[in-house]
Amino acid sequence: MEKKLPEEAMPEVLKTNDSFVKGRRKEYFESHVEAQRPVITLLTCSDSRVQPSIFSEDMIDKVFVIRNIGNQLENSAGSVDYGVFHLQTPLLLILGHVKCGAVNAFLKGYSDEPESIRCELDHLHIPISRAKGEDFEELWLSAVEENVHW
Ligand SMILES: [Zn+2]
Repeated sequence: MEKKLPEEAMPEVLKTNDSFVKGRRKEYFESHVEAQRPVITLLTCSDSRVQPSIFSEDMIDKVFVIRNIGNQLENSAGSVDYGVFHLQTPLLLILGHVKCGAVNAFLKGYSDEPESIRCELDHLHIPISRAKGEDFEELWLSAVEENVHW
């Protein structure tokens, strides 16, 4: 997919939202106004290839989503606890993915990144220190898995 300019991308986003709203009756939205009742607390990577819609065709009120680069628990523990303790979702899923850019950046070094990104990636230190691999690809996958297990 080619990169678009903001003035090209925004009308498409608005059109999709408008189509979503027009495709549902008023009662559909009213049924979700008072409270949320998600079934899953999901911590996953912000990577645009990873979408919670894999769990349901209609995502509204199904998944309490927490996202950050590298699906890191340390950076979002409060949000995860909110889903588990306050919303009482029966499921907590930590969803990582192959070829995670955050894990790759951690493994290859990220000292040239802006401070905000460095601070966020620093939390990958403990889980990734447990990764093992014969070559980089194997190490990368192991690091993704160790991060999910952490
Ligand atoms: Zn990722």
